[in-house]
Amino acid sequence: MASSSALRSNLQRIDGKGYKAYKDIQGEYSFNEFSVFVDYVQGDPFAGPSRVRIRVPQRKAGFPGELFRNRSREKALRDYLVRAFAASAKRFTKGNRGIGKSGMIGIDPPGQEILERTAVLINEEFVEARFVMGLPAFGRKIAGRHAEAMFFDELPQIATSSLFYQSMQKEKLTSHVETSEDADALREQLTEHNCVAFIADDSVLPRRSGVDPRPLTGDNVVPFRSADEFRIEMSTPNRGSVGGMGIPRGVNLIVGGGYHGKSTLLSALEMGIYNHVPGDGREFVVSDPATVKIRAEDGRRVEKVGITPFIDNLPFNKDTTRFCTEDASGSTSQAANIVEALEVDTGSLLIDEDTSATNFMIRDQRMQELVAKEHEPITPFIDKVRQLSDDWGVSTVLVIGGSGDYFDVADRVICMHDYLPQDVTEEAKQISRKHAAERRNEGGENFGEIRHRLADPASFDPSKGKKPVKIAERGLKAISFGDHHIDLSAVEQLTDPSQTRAIGEAMYFVKQLLNEKQYTLKEAVDEIMRRIEEEGLGSLSQRPVGDYAEFRKFELAAAINRLRTLQVSQRE
Ligand code: ADP
Ligand code: MG
Repeated sequence: MASSSALRSNLQRIDGKGYKAYKDIQGEYSFNEFSVFVDYVQGDPFAGPSRVRIRVPQRKAGFPGELFRNRSREKALRDYLVRAFAASAKRFTKGNRGIGKSGMIGIDPPGQEILERTAVLINEEFVEARFVMGLPAFGRKIAGRHAEAMFFDELPQIATSSLFYQSMQKEKLTSHVETSEDADALREQLTEHNCVAFIADDSVLPRRSGVDPRPLTGDNVVPFRSADEFRIEMSTPNRGSVGGMGIPRGVNLIVGGGYHGKSTLLSALEMGIYNHVPGDGREFVVSDPATVKIRAEDGRRVEKVGITPFIDNLPFNKDTTRFCTEDASGSTSQAANIVEALEVDTGSLLIDEDTSATNFMIRDQRMQELVAKEHEPITPFIDKVRQLSDDWGVSTVLVIGGSGDYFDVADRVICMHDYLPQDVTEEAKQISRKHAAERRNEGGENFGEIRHRLADPASFDPSKGKKPVKIAERGLKAISFGDHHIDLSAVEQLTDPSQTRAIGEAMYFVKQLLNEKQYTLKEAVDEIMRRIEEEGLGSLSQRPVGDYAEFRKFELAAAINRLRTLQVSQRE
């Protein structure tokens, strides 16, 4: 490792030269308090910025082991340090130091969720931050003095204020770690309470807007309060017992008038698979980690999915045990989304009428009389939702303000009134008896088979032009995989573009795995998740990577299923 003075004299030497001369500074340098690794130097001032790491030995950084003594704490601590680094970078960088990205120092920015990220690592030996720098230039000429200021004034200030325990806001840091650990503890207790979700009293569920995920504030916000019938108590390691609404396994309906907070509650459950930062309002809203939001997604491609439980007897005897389409309808896409989630072992489904296909959800008595079952390929969800629970142990939470037929199949009916839940199960059951539905159950004896598919690795082609592998995320909801565009706009539980980026990379791993051995999609995604669990998220890349965030197998499978070139065969 070279000394920092070598970096300094290097920068002085290349000052005013052509931009390419920056390549010379790639390498490792030891500063007083830490080491700096310049891993990659950008080709020009407008290109993707240079990738740099700072590593502070733990004997100087001084983080007490208790802050990362288990995985839950470690993840929250790392997340906190990313935020601290981001704030310090904002505070201590002068910013504009020439053209293009000149002067910027940035780290992969977290949002409301606490995710495992590769931007900061911590262990007994060291703390490491991985970030990017826009190496400065005027015109195409190296601004060496400015680069010197970035490395020798700004970076040390950022590091000192965000990677050394001594200079941290200890209470804030502790609260971050403890809140996240408590949320994990609550999520773990869902099983013993036989629940799919828990919403603590006093949670704030509504968000500022459709594009602003921070909590709604102001006098009109109604904090959540469980109905007595649904109240359970759970314990946490750091704040004693927490009370709130438990949503038991089984079939749960959320009903209520329009605008009374039904969809807001469901959205909170969607994000309950993640922990949230203190102050988010949903810190103690947790759901089963295997919860999958299902919606209609017309236009999507479907590759040999066994949607027979929901759709059968299509015109021209089109096969629904291996159903393919380049352009699914609302109902077939929703059926495929459910079957694909079952294929990778979902434990509970979240469905909102707002984003469902009506003909997939209901088929009332009058329609049954007019259009006989023999002429209707769709078995509506209402006739399958019980079997999903009884045959496969898959629970459902369903927002449905528009059809009382569902009262017959529900275990529980939760009515949202003025943003607060009430237990109306008894009332709904009475109404059920009073107006006995004359519609016929069309669900048959059981749910039906879930067919597993073997993926063909040749159908994953990440190459683009001369490049054998070119994969990139395109914002939160799209991946470009070689020449192919993967549309994830209906995959609603993605929350961070760094997840999307990591998923793109993981798809390449899936391809390599399939080259080694025949795997079903389920086996392949399970194997990838197992490797990540063992070797870390960073192992998805050959180089030290600072911009991946954790993701679930459900979102990985969703991305594979939306690769329009995917080819599979079914395992017999
Ligand atoms: P529904 O699905 O029942 O029609 P929504 O969940 O879409 O209703 O909520 C309607 C509006 O009320 C939204 O703008 C939402 O932000 C707001 N809202 C939801 N819950 C609350 C709450 N607890 N306090 C204040 N406003 C809320
Ligand atoms: Mg709604």
